[in-house]
Amino acid sequence: MVSAEVENVSPLRPELTRPAGAKSLSTKFSVFTTILVFWVIVVVGGYDISLNPGKVIAGKILILLLIVFLSAGAIARFTIRILVRPLAVLQRAIQEARAGRLTQVDISRTGDEIEYLAESFNQMSSALAVSQAQVKEHQELLEERIRLRTEELEEALQKAMQASQAKSEFLANMSHELRTPMSGVIGMLDLVMESPLNRDQLEQLKAAQGCAHSLLGLLNDLLDLSKIEAGRMVLEEIPFEMRALVADCTKTYQARAKSKGISMSWSVDQAVPRVLIGDPLRVRQILANLVSNAVKFTERGSVRVEVRLDDGCPEAQASVTLRLSVADTGPGIAPERHDSIFEQFTQADGSISRRFGGTGLGLAISKRLVEMHGGEINLQSAEGLGSAFSVLLPFPVASDPAGSLAEQAEADFSAQNSRGAILVVEDNLINQKVVTSLLRKKGYETHIANNGQEALDMLHSGNYQLVLMDVQMPVLDGLEASQRIRAEERYAGLPIIAMTAHAMNGDRERCLKAGMNEYLAKPVDHKHLIAVVEQFLKQKSSPRAAAPPAHGTAADQGLNGANPALREQMLKLFVQLAPDRIKRLHQAAAEGNLTQLREDVQKIQAAARSISAANVVEWTNSIEESARRVDLESIRTSLSHLDEAVRALSQPTTHQRLDA
Ligand code: ADP
Repeated sequence: MVSAEVENVSPLRPELTRPAGAKSLSTKFSVFTTILVFWVIVVVGGYDISLNPGKVIAGKILILLLIVFLSAGAIARFTIRILVRPLAVLQRAIQEARAGRLTQVDISRTGDEIEYLAESFNQMSSALAVSQAQVKEHQELLEERIRLRTEELEEALQKAMQASQAKSEFLANMSHELRTPMSGVIGMLDLVMESPLNRDQLEQLKAAQGCAHSLLGLLNDLLDLSKIEAGRMVLEEIPFEMRALVADCTKTYQARAKSKGISMSWSVDQAVPRVLIGDPLRVRQILANLVSNAVKFTERGSVRVEVRLDDGCPEAQASVTLRLSVADTGPGIAPERHDSIFEQFTQADGSISRRFGGTGLGLAISKRLVEMHGGEINLQSAEGLGSAFSVLLPFPVASDPAGSLAEQAEADFSAQNSRGAILVVEDNLINQKVVTSLLRKKGYETHIANNGQEALDMLHSGNYQLVLMDVQMPVLDGLEASQRIRAEERYAGLPIIAMTAHAMNGDRERCLKAGMNEYLAKPVDHKHLIAVVEQFLKQKSSPRAAAPPAHGTAADQGLNGANPALREQMLKLFVQLAPDRIKRLHQAAAEGNLTQLREDVQKIQAAARSISAANVVEWTNSIEESARRVDLESIRTSLSHLDEAVRALSQPTTHQRLDA
């Protein structure tokens, strides 16, 4: 008989004390015992009757019955005790193990299969416990390694972002240094060319002007590309006429096409809405790049520019998608080069660059600009079969009840011109001359202030309808001067237009924040300057006009100087590391371990700075401050605010103040 005692499995849950298996086993034993009893009675009774036919010995049968019942009960009880109960306990332990709670069962040394089974179970349970501990240890080790690696990655990204920032700063400074003299050269050339000159002088000046413009073009391309890469290119959203833009842009290349004997034509479909909202400067830049390439590379035949709707009829539509296509009968581009020509500094073949010149930047910039608009650029071309570039661009449609913008500007211009002088605030003598003579030529009265302070004084004593404000100036710079002007109620309607050679570095946003209405990068395009001045003078009577425009700040657009892709990665890492860091902060605060707390806070702070998470930086500052004062109560309060700020960062829909 098997007789193993397995008892006291601990810890066990009370509800598992009578498992289903044990019940069914004991039931089976009871049924078996009952059948056995009946069988014995029937056999013994039958035998007795066969020995003594006709005589029923009831007493004998009764005694027999009693004996058999008693022995069957004893057998059943013994069986349940030594077999069923230990098995039930084992089963219970197995169920516990299945639920992840490893236990040991107590074994009675009976030397039978149940003891062996229980021992095997205990061994298995111990082995599992050991391996579970090892897995846990490895997991913790792995988590720690991942954390350290992520922190290393974060540090590396921070360095990369700093490098990107430094590159942007360098470009901003270079841009300033190069644009200022270029602005002077081009402006002066323009002025001299309008004075009486003999033919030779005019030819020479034209050549100088051509060189200056191509140098400026290259400079602009490089700066544009850097701006886009640094995430600092901001698209304007102003009303413009597509038809006028296309006409003007193609006109620029008409003379060159004519001199090469190429025919050039353009058309804008009737269905294209007259006034759209967008950035005309950038749309023009895209179109001009394509048209100038088409004219440059085509030796004979034609260049055709077409603008039509890409998405059917615009009736009552708030926005439309336009297809701008530029097709030529030039040399064409081999299919394997179709992708690479959109990369920076890449030309379809080396001989082309020798023959036609160029830098290989135009298409790269165009593609980026198109993508910034949420559009796409495509090319259909094969060698010897010409090229057709097509650009899809979405635009909101402007309502233009008052007639075309140009007509309106024309009509308002003369009326506005007599309302006061334009104040040119500029410290550079050459720029003063260029801007004032340009404005005077257009009939405006202009006065010059050499710095911000002079401008304030002149405003107080004179009557001005508009201010053109340089940014970098001695005594009082343009930003400070604008803030002071805006602080005075009486100048609320006075338009201030920034003119700065700092074409990068978030200057536009800083100017707008300081209260200026518009921003022009130097060297200012003469037409653009006049157009902007006219636009503001026209709007001036409207009460809303001079209030600084609603603008996406640098911060809103993540324009904090670093490459947006790096910043995006940094944000991901920040969100990934945040829960563990916050947990450690809470732990350090609970233990009163201020050294650890400060160390962890500084890590969060550095990371938050690089993604410009202002709220997070703010609360880490206040935790640091409280830690310095050993003020545990306010550390706890700031920690809960920090929790919230970090949580908000992890939620993509939440608008975050990212402008540290
Ligand atoms: P760039 O014109 O300064 O060389 P782009 O980026 O504008 O730079 O163009 C890149 C290259 O693509 C050109 O050098 C030329 O090889 C090819 N390409 C662009 N437009 C055309 C075109 N219309 N026909 C033939 N080749 C073209």
